[in-house]
Amino acid sequence: MWPVRAATKPATRYALNQPLFQRLECPYCGNQNQAALAYFTDDEGLYRLYVCEQCHTYIKAVDLRRTESQVLLPLERVMTLDMDREGQEKGYKPGQG
Ligand SMILES: [Zn+2]
Repeated sequence: MWPVRAATKPATRYALNQPLFQRLECPYCGNQNQAALAYFTDDEGLYRLYVCEQCHTYIKAVDLRRTESQVLLPLERVMTLDMDREGQEKGYKPGQG
């Protein structure tokens, strides 16, 4: 479904990808405007930070297909905290909790 690749060497930890190539709807405000939806990924594309420009909410996502063969709990904890900080620094608020 997702064309996950890690062929490039991003200069920054998170690269902004937009617009989305899949239809996506913000679960919080129902925004379906693809131009107002974007996501950030880490270097490996394992974690994604979806952001909605309409309600300024972000949602963390993990590509489970790539984690099932590894134990990544400590790293995941660090990574998601990093993603929280990244999202909030960009002016978004958590979409869960
Ligand atoms: Zn929204």
